[in-house]
Parts: sequence; structure tokens; C-alpha cells
Amino acid sequence: EVKQQGRNGWHFFSASLEEKVRKKLSISNGLRLAMERDELSVRFQPIVDTLSTRIVGAEMLLRWHPAEGPVSPALFIPIAEMTGSIVPIGSWVFAQACQAEADWRSRWGELAPAYISVNISARQLNEKNLLSEIKAIIKTHACDPARILLEITETAVMADIDTNLRVLRSLADLGFRVAIDDFGTGYSSLAQLTKLPVDVLKIDKAFIDGIEHHPESRAVVKAVIGLGRAVGVKMIAEGVENPEQLLELRNFGCDFVQGYLFYRPLEKHQFIEAVEQSFKNDPEPYEPPLFFL
Ligand code: C2E
Ligand code: MG
Ligand code: MG
Ligand code: MG
Repeated sequence: EVKQQGRNGWHFFSASLEEKVRKKLSISNGLRLAMERDELSVRFQPIVDTLSTRIVGAEMLLRWHPAEGPVSPALFIPIAEMTGSIVPIGSWVFAQACQAEADWRSRWGELAPAYISVNISARQLNEKNLLSEIKAIIKTHACDPARILLEITETAVMADIDTNLRVLRSLADLGFRVAIDDFGTGYSSLAQLTKLPVDVLKIDKAFIDGIEHHPESRAVVKAVIGLGRAVGVKMIAEGVENPEQLLELRNFGCDFVQGYLFYRPLEKHQFIEAVEQSFKNDPEPYEPPLFFL
């Protein structure tokens, strides 16, 4: 019986592995056609000022909805990075961000949110023609790079610090703002951090989870925010889900927060409504220089 169980176990394991491989393959094939099939879209998750909770920006988040049903970015982004599909898809997302930036300025003028942030994968940074392509896109959309925040994960930056440092410097020279995403999950040292042209650190959700219950988690987040202040960058906390977490982040002097407590990733029309509602609550223009002091 044990033997048989073992054999069944083996068959089961083998089948599930095969299933996983098949799924990855179908995702990678599907992704290659996603753009021409018009299956991609973007959402906007507002980012708010910690004290006033006014909307100061938004993160653009990619969505993929093939005929079989939506696939989570957590699943398809790593596959797109592996196969290289992220390069054309990432350009498309970047163009959407540039378009949104120009649209916000023409729609809201002085009152427009200060920035839109967009995720950039390491694969894109390694593309030879990245800079010329980006220049062309910002020209097409007449977009202001100073209002675009490029989010690169800490792990991606550190994986090839020399190349990435060079590319990030060129992007910063073009006027873009740079954020280190999922900060705290990688292994950067303070010394490396000060070498990078960084404007913003985004503290990963994993560090925010439980700060309202655990003194140790609180101590870590407080120290990270202190570190950010010491090196002169702005801090965004990700994944803020309850008012207790917000209170802690206010006490620690975190500049900005993003999370389901305020908004989920929104469709364009919902985002426009949310911003206009936010104006009604707080009609003073939000000065971009305050954000990037
Ligand atoms: P990320 O850049 O760290 O984005 C934040 C993720 O946290 C988003 O997941 C967002 O929906 C989610 N989130 C925000 N607030 C909360 C909250 O309060 N609670 C919880 N549970 N989740 C929250 P999403 O949209 O599923 O994206 C996952 C990851 O996929 C992103 O993590 C990013 O690394 C990647 N990604 C998304 N869009 C793009 C893209 O256009 N290009 C690239 N290269 N990566 C992308
Ligand atoms: Mg991000
Ligand atoms: Mg993040
Ligand atoms: Mg994250």
C-alpha cells in the first residue's frame, strides 16, 4: 500500500509539475500576443500625503485580461521578464504614463497631482536603445519627465549595480525622478544608496503589515524612515490597510502613503473622480517642489 501511495504520489507530483510548466508556457505565449489582441490595460492607484491624505500622485499598475480571464501581475510579470516580453509591454506602459501625465496637466493645471509613478523592470534598463526610445515617447506626448517617477525594485537595482547606476543617472539627467521600489527586501547598503540618483524610497508592504501590533516591526519602519530622512529622500509606505498603521506612519514622519485604506488601483474615470473629490476637500494647489525638496 505504501508503495502504491508512493507511486500515486509520484504520478501526482509529476502531473502537477507538468501542469505548471504548461501554464507558464501558455502565459508566455499569450503575453506575446497580448498587445495586438488589446488585452492590456492600466490602473491608477492614488498615493496620498500622510498628513492631509490629499492625492499627490498615482502608481500606474498593469493589468492583463486574456479571453480565459484576468491573470495577476505577480504571476505574469516575472514570466514576461524571463521571456523578454516585458520590453515591448514596458514601453507601452511607459507611453501610457507619459500620456496620463500630459492629460492631468491639461485637465487640472496647477492642481494636477505632482507625479505619476511607473514600474520599470531590470530587463528594460538593460535595453541598448532604452534612452532613445524614452526620449521619443516623451516628445510624442509632450510629457514632463520631472513629473514621472520611475520605480525600480531594490533587488533589480542591486543585481547589476554598475550598469543600473549608469542608466539611472542618464534617466535622472533627462529629468526623471527615481524611486527604489519594495525597499527593504533587497540588500543595499547605505553607501550604495547614496551613490544612486534616488528621490524616493517605497517601503515594502511586508514591513507595514503588523506595525500596529508588533513593537519590533514598528522599530524597523521607524529606523528605515529615519534613514531616508538622513539621506534626504522622500518616503512612501506601500500597502497601508488600516487607520492604526496610518497613525504610526504619521508619528514616524513618513511623507506619503499608498494602500487599500485610501484607494485600490482605479480605472481612469474612477481616478479622475477621486482626484476631483480630493480637490473639494483641499482646494489649495499641491506644490511639486514640496514633494521633491
Ligand atoms: P508593486 O510595484 O510593489 O505594486 C504594489 C502592489 O501592491 C500592487 O499589486 C498593488 O495593487 C498592491 N497593493 C497596493 N496597496 C495594497 C494594499 O493595501 N494591500 C494589498 N494587499 N495590496 C496592495 P499589483 O497591481 O498586483 O502588482 C504587483 C507587482 O507587479 C507590482 O508590485 C510590480 O512589481 C509589478 N507590476 C505591476 N505593473 C507593472 C508594470 O507595468 N511593469 C512592471 N515591470 N511591473 C509591474
Ligand atoms: Mg511599484
Ligand atoms: Mg512596490
Ligand atoms: Mg511591493
